[in-house]
Amino acid sequence: MPRMRVVQVSHPNGPFELVEREIPEPGAGSVRIKVEACGICHSDSLVKEGTFPGIRYPRVPGHEVVGLIHTVGPDVAGWAAGQRVGVGWHGGHCGYCDSCRRGDFFACPIAAQVTGLTYDGGYADYMVAPASALALVPEELSAVEAGPLMCAGLTTFNSLRNSGARPGDLVAILGVGGLGHLGVQFAAKMGFKTVAIARGGDKEPLARELGAHYYIDSQAQVPAAELLKLGGARVILATVTSGEAMSAVLGGLGVNGKLMVLGAPESLEVSPFLLITGRRSVMGWYSGTSIDSQDTLSFSVLTGVRSMNEVFPLERAAEAYERMMSGKARFRVVLTTGH
Ligand SMILES: [Zn+2]
Ligand SMILES: [Zn+2]
Repeated sequence: MPRMRVVQVSHPNGPFELVEREIPEPGAGSVRIKVEACGICHSDSLVKEGTFPGIRYPRVPGHEVVGLIHTVGPDVAGWAAGQRVGVGWHGGHCGYCDSCRRGDFFACPIAAQVTGLTYDGGYADYMVAPASALALVPEELSAVEAGPLMCAGLTTFNSLRNSGARPGDLVAILGVGGLGHLGVQFAAKMGFKTVAIARGGDKEPLARELGAHYYIDSQAQVPAAELLKLGGARVILATVTSGEAMSAVLGGLGVNGKLMVLGAPESLEVSPFLLITGRRSVMGWYSGTSIDSQDTLSFSVLTGVRSMNEVFPLERAAEAYERMMSGKARFRVVLTTGH
């Protein structure tokens, strides 16, 4: 049997192991993908540290996968070998439960699958994915460019387009990192009056280059007060993982303003008085399904939105992961297989 390389984690907090396995066969409804690139997402730490319930080990992480369809399994309609596809966090759904019948595929409890968590992901030469998880990747994007758009890009793009903000509205992006540097670009390209909020002044030139019309240094200024000076935010996209940083900007929401929560701190403090008096709200946002990913890729081609990436070969996954976890990467880290 032909073999392939994968990078797996064998137990919670175990090391990344580069091992050889047999190339998997796609079952009914699935395809085999020859992986070209896979972004490393902070959520991969759920596999590494074992903090996601029910993970079966050994597990291959990776849910920012881009590659070519190598083999189409039985009972797959609409996909063919040779097509370039991406697979994100949403790893498949049943299509017949109440949530799916309402179009809320992300909330499917029957066949809820997460790429790289409930089945093996993209830190590998090949992987198998359900056809319902596939997004078509436009040829204008390289595999490395498309990878981070499958999770970081999708999450920021899809939350912004569903936030209720309209062109010209004041939209703030809290945090200019892996998610935030994409959020700033999408917000500006969607026609929002875009504010970037980050700690320190050193990210201001980059934030402005990415399209921010305003920059707030949260160490030197009070972000909520600065947002109010600009008229109050219609939406604040919280890409940070600090509940305190989120609470600190809430006062900058205008009337009907909404805090969209993408980062996942332990807890978040909100003043009910603030919510009630301005009809303000706090909302979480799940990344999206395969067609949302495809829309993200398409919009990125149309408007020139790109992730800034540091690239490592698959065999250096452990080092690449540490780089991502250090918070020092500018801004996403992507593995390539050499295919
Ligand atoms: Zn992710
Ligand atoms: Zn379902």
